[in-house]
Amino acid sequence: MFQGRLSKKLVFCIMLISGVFTLLSTSYTVYHDYRNRISALEQQVKDIVDSYEQPLGVAIYKSQTLIVTLILETFRGLSDEYLAAAKDSDGKNVMTVANIEQDEIMGKMNALGTRNNYFTYKKEIDFGLSKYVTNGEVVVIEGYVGSIEVTVSTEHVKREIIGNIKTILVAQFIKTLIVSLFILFLIDKLILSRQIRIVNWLREFSKNQSIDPLQLRKTIHPDELDDMTYVINDMGSKIVSHQKSLENTVNDRTRELVVKNTELENAQKELHLMLHSKSLALNHIEETLSTALWETDIFGNIISMSESLDKNVLRTDSGTNVLRLSEVVSLPRSKNKDSFDKVLKGIFDSREPFTIHDTEIKNSFGNRISIRLDGRPKIIDGAFTGYNGTITDISSEKKLRMLAYSDGLTGLANRLALEHHFEKTQQRAKRLNFSNGIMALDLDFFKSINDNYGHAVGDDVLKAVALSLSDCVREEDCVARIGGEEFVVLVQGVTLEGLITLAERINESVRSLRPSSLPIERKITVSIGLTIVALNEQLSDALKRADDFLYMSKKNGRDTVSYDSK
Ligand code: GH3
Ligand code: MG
Ligand code: MG
Repeated sequence: MFQGRLSKKLVFCIMLISGVFTLLSTSYTVYHDYRNRISALEQQVKDIVDSYEQPLGVAIYKSQTLIVTLILETFRGLSDEYLAAAKDSDGKNVMTVANIEQDEIMGKMNALGTRNNYFTYKKEIDFGLSKYVTNGEVVVIEGYVGSIEVTVSTEHVKREIIGNIKTILVAQFIKTLIVSLFILFLIDKLILSRQIRIVNWLREFSKNQSIDPLQLRKTIHPDELDDMTYVINDMGSKIVSHQKSLENTVNDRTRELVVKNTELENAQKELHLMLHSKSLALNHIEETLSTALWETDIFGNIISMSESLDKNVLRTDSGTNVLRLSEVVSLPRSKNKDSFDKVLKGIFDSREPFTIHDTEIKNSFGNRISIRLDGRPKIIDGAFTGYNGTITDISSEKKLRMLAYSDGLTGLANRLALEHHFEKTQQRAKRLNFSNGIMALDLDFFKSINDNYGHAVGDDVLKAVALSLSDCVREEDCVARIGGEEFVVLVQGVTLEGLITLAERINESVRSLRPSSLPIERKITVSIGLTIVALNEQLSDALKRADDFLYMSKKNGRDTVSYDSK
């Protein structure tokens, strides 16, 4: 009939409270009833005693025991247990009437206390001076006659009351039960059943999103519950429509995301392919240009490098864990990595781009390779994050330059190198205001050496002369072989006297050459023409003048030096 735990609790509480209330009110009523009945009984005893006072006094006075007995019998109907005793003026018992033994009633009274189960009413009968007529006889009685004492048990009242209590309690219980059930019925109809429906609906709603919004019954007479019903119905509709719009939005977004994701994946693939082809191209470029890329952190520790560099250099030097750029690259012919470390540190501290032309790395065969080291600071969002750059193999370039600038037989500078050197030397001379000198040299009767001892011996002689010339000059001077057995010496910062002295020394040095392939008696000599180069002069002009003086030396008997003596 009643649903839910709340109803059961309500039933229990209502029953408990009304039970206690019924019990209290019944107890009060019963107690009051009991007291009233006892008072009524006492009043009844009193009334009987009062009404029989006179005839009883006369009967006691005249010792008419039969009459006394008859009067005392009147109390018999009052209770199951009673004792009525009449005493004369001397206190002697005239008569005692009881429906229980006197001793027994006294014993009970003593044991339980008179007020609980028994009460006693005693009256002294005192007539003063009176005249009474009984049975046609006038009796004069004077003063105290005696007494009457009635003791009555009230236990039958209690028994009756207890008998009533049961009936009252049963009646009250039935009444309370009916009232409680009625109240509960009302509560259940008005609140709980609706509440349970709401709870069940909300539970279903949270489980199954596709159910229709809650529709509670509407009553004809709107009340607060109907208001709540309306609000909940409205809320349900709104939640469902909101949920549907959310679902639509999520679906739309998901579709968009799928499309975007596909686009992104395609773009990623394209990017990957592009990167791959770029990487291949870069590798190709690296291989073609003999260039490797490197990247360091702010301390000069390598954080990435080209595969070629990694394979060919780093692994052989110090395994896979090369840390510093200065451990990979070194200055030519320098074993001191620390000093190069300092050089690089200085560069890194400056945070400027740099190029070091004259550096080397050791390749996997232990050979030193000339390289050019280029670096550029990495600035990301305005912050210095290290360096990146390139290592370019310049050994072939160097070889080519050697071939282009040097004479293959003697290793001396060739004409091209001489021209370069002449340009640089002239610029310096202008800047520092000094003059340069130039000598043209031609071996004497060289043809006969070839003719007599062979071309190879001639070559040996040429090499020996080249060495001898190089030994005679300073490092900043240039010795070049510009023809078969024709040499030029370019001397920096020199006077005519100095140049003559040097030429004579060369004469002497060549004269004293004794190549092992040549017989000892066959002397080698050289004729020299020299001149001071004017500041704005061309090489060809200066050389022409020196050549003229050389011709003069040839003419003057060879193995001599000629110059402008003016
Ligand atoms: P002169 O004193 O007049 O200079 O006499 P010369 O014999 O030296 O005459 P000339 O300068 O004309 O001779 C040059 C010779 O040098 C001709 C050639 O056989 C020789 N010659 C040129 N180039 C080379 C070379 O590379 N090796 C050798 N062994 N001989 C060369
Ligand atoms: Mg010659
Ligand atoms: Mg010659």
